Amino acid sequence: MKITDVEPIHLRVPNVEAIPDGTLDVLIVRIHTDQGITGVGEVTSQSYVCKACFEAPRSAARRHGLTSILLGEDPTDPVALWEKMYYETNRYGRRGAAIHAISGADIALWDIKGQAEGKPVSELLGGRLRDDVRAYASVLFADTPEQTAEMAKQYVEMGLTAVKFGWGPIGDDAAVDVAHVQAAREAIGDERDLMVDAGHAWDWETALGRTELFQPFNLTWLEEPVGQDDRHGYRELCKRSPIPIAGGEGDVTHFDFEELIDCGLHVVQPDIAFCGGITTCQRISQMTTAQRRRVVPHCFSTGVNLAASLHWISTVADGDLVEYCLRPSPLMRKLVANLPQVIEGRVPVPTGPGLGIELDEDVIEEFRVR
Ligand code: MG
Repeated sequence: MKITDVEPIHLRVPNVEAIPDGTLDVLIVRIHTDQGITGVGEVTSQSYVCKACFEAPRSAARRHGLTSILLGEDPTDPVALWEKMYYETNRYGRRGAAIHAISGADIALWDIKGQAEGKPVSELLGGRLRDDVRAYASVLFADTPEQTAEMAKQYVEMGLTAVKFGWGPIGDDAAVDVAHVQAAREAIGDERDLMVDAGHAWDWETALGRTELFQPFNLTWLEEPVGQDDRHGYRELCKRSPIPIAGGEGDVTHFDFEELIDCGLHVVQPDIAFCGGITTCQRISQMTTAQRRRVVPHCFSTGVNLAASLHWISTVADGDLVEYCLRPSPLMRKLVANLPQVIEGRVPVPTGPGLGIELDEDVIEEFRVR
């Protein structure tokens, strides 16, 4: 089998607000083959830049565009092609946009391999350990603790057993932070999981103070309490914190995650459509399993990201949790025609060959950037 075409498709809703929401502007990647099989992947990053990473022509050694690297290659060995893409983009890649773009190609290649063999991607990764995965919703803290409590109750009514609140008013005032966390805990009850995303609000000493204040509320994790590049802060905080520390949504490649695990991070959160794809995520979960750390997919864009995350995390021993995006964007709700839905707090892993998803061509036409 040979790759005959690589199609980066930029989808964007008419009003892209400057808010932390990955569902408004995405790059879908379709890889076509000479045997009529087409794979689909996604890149959650700066879509214009990542599209250019595909379309850039051949250049001198190790600075080629991704499409020129992939054309004519056999798509059924995604790991070998990951290495080739990583090597041949070295001069402008290694981290950042080129790796984000590689994520989309890698997901599409695994989709092709699964379709060619008639197996779901989870089976290619060693076999699923569960047919559905527990979902957690993640939302922003409201303006007041009372409003935060109201929101928390809605998610409980939806049947979710885990909720993460973050950003918003959190950060400046310890008493305000505690009031919000306490309101969320009281609203969801003691039997559900509660997580807090601090959105890199503090230095490590301040973060340590907050972990002590948050301790009575039994948090499952405190996410990104310090800056993404503050490896020293993570190292100091993880040694001392009474509650688990999470992070990694801004990191890429197994090299970055090796470093985060070495810093002592308790929960790592790679985004499969950003960090290097399914190949990278499998390498990360092999490390977390060996080091007895937890890995939970960061997943806040479209159903393509969700499906790839579900296939991967269903094969991980300590992997019964996935972030589930509840944003109303049509790119999340409608792009994947058979979007996996939350049923009694859990999301089924698709069962068809490859990723087991179908894209709605009308949605692609409506939101495609020409
Ligand atoms: Mg986060």
